[in-house]
Amino acid sequence: MAELLSERLDAQAESENWHTHHDAAAQRRADLDVLRDLHSFTALADWLDSEPAAEALRGMVGTGPAAFLDAEPDLAGQVIEWGRNRRRIHRSDARRQARPLVPGLQARHTALWAQQARLLLSSYEHLEAAEPRLCRLITSLAAGHLAEGAEIDALHAAPTRTRQQLQRDACGDYLARRDAAVEAAWAALARRARRHTGREHFATAYDDEHLIICDTCQIIYLKVGPNTLRQDRCPHCGGTPIDWTDRDSIVPLTRRLDNIRQRLSEADPETR
Ligand SMILES: [Zn+2]
Repeated sequence: MAELLSERLDAQAESENWHTHHDAAAQRRADLDVLRDLHSFTALADWLDSEPAAEALRGMVGTGPAAFLDAEPDLAGQVIEWGRNRRRIHRSDARRQARPLVPGLQARHTALWAQQARLLLSSYEHLEAAEPRLCRLITSLAAGHLAEGAEIDALHAAPTRTRQQLQRDACGDYLARRDAAVEAAWAALARRARRHTGREHFATAYDDEHLIICDTCQIIYLKVGPNTLRQDRCPHCGGTPIDWTDRDSIVPLTRRLDNIRQRLSEADPETR
């Protein structure tokens, strides 16, 4: 009888274990779903009432919700609880409930940003090649934003193309065509007019009329023709092509890099 009882108890314990395990697995799946849902929630920054907190959360969940859950169980737990509640409450209540977890997320943002900035500043080959996607990454970091996971991953591989190569592809035989146009215009001038109108004058006017430039990677494109990007995004970096005559408004990459160094030394005095 005692044996029978003990067997039953064993079976019961086993079944309870199984249930506990099963419940834990279901709970984990549900938790990961909440994190994924937050990752794709477009109004996240607004609902957390903090852009850096939203960026940090997106960054950490984006590289792997399970890794975030395992590495930072306390913070992830708070976030998940908030994520569950926010579906049932108004934005103002969600913001209020987010207050305790926002400082933690903002601290992660600062740490992640510094990590990305240090990696960028030591990626000498990439800085040398200055590919458009690197220009975009520099622009994001200089503005205090986190870069996307894929942009950071790209720093771990060697650069594939240089800006100069892409530039040649974007403009084709533009310089030859410009030279021909300049020669024709100059030849049409009367001898006296040539004395005070140089060829550069025509070259400058031709550029002003025919060129646009990306405000981020500074690849120059043609303003007119079938492949113009005048109303479009730069295909290489997603930047905005602007008129050639407005090119002085573009912040040079070197200044953006200086901004990053400055911000990094303020965030992390050890690197000074
Ligand atoms: Zn561009």
